[in-house]
Amino acid sequence: MKLVFATNNCNKLKELQSNLGDTIDVVSLKDIGCNVDIPETGSTLEENAYIKSSYVYNHYGLNCFADDTGFEIDSLNGVPGVYSARYAGENKNSDDNMKKVLQKLKGQKNRDAQFRTIISLWFEGKEKLFEGIVRGTVMTEKHGDGGFGYDPIFMPEGYNCSFAEMSLREKNAISHRGIAVRKLIDFLLRNISDD
Ligand code: IMP
Repeated sequence: MKLVFATNNCNKLKELQSNLGDTIDVVSLKDIGCNVDIPETGSTLEENAYIKSSYVYNHYGLNCFADDTGFEIDSLNGVPGVYSARYAGENKNSDDNMKKVLQKLKGQKNRDAQFRTIISLWFEGKEKLFEGIVRGTVMTEKHGDGGFGYDPIFMPEGYNCSFAEMSLREKNAISHRGIAVRKLIDFLLRNISDD
């Protein structure tokens, strides 16, 4: 079965294909000839994931899924959340984004936060959502140079280091995206073998 991942991020694509084996052929937007930069105009992660997955389902009639992730800080009422990529401006600079977070949390005792990923899947004409959350705290300065985005300032619960100090394998085992992707894979493998 062909399944479109509404992304052109080859790392995300490869990671998923390696978990699915041969039963499902995961392809990117480019692979189906879709060169549109689908605008993420929603005000929630759920809406943005839905906008991307339903675009493909409606225009191409193919089973499809899309993901959206936010960094949600408790004392900022969930901000930056859906606006995580461009928190400090349209150029989507991670250093500027982290600087802004550290500035906002100066003197703040409650530094609890979470990463949350939503996956919207269109499968046989119905939408299904999968969620992955990892809780942790915002550190007072950057640690490590692995990963991307807010990884250097996020320490997951139960660990003594930032996401940026972990190997990709360690991070995937506990991360928001890892959790959501495993739920998606479980669902797909269960429903396809039922056919
Ligand atoms: P996206 O929905 O995967 O594009 O993520 C939106 C934004 O959230 C990214 O641009 C990053 O700033 C942030 N983000 C998403 N996933 C992670 C992660 O695993 N670590 C750190 N930051 C992340």
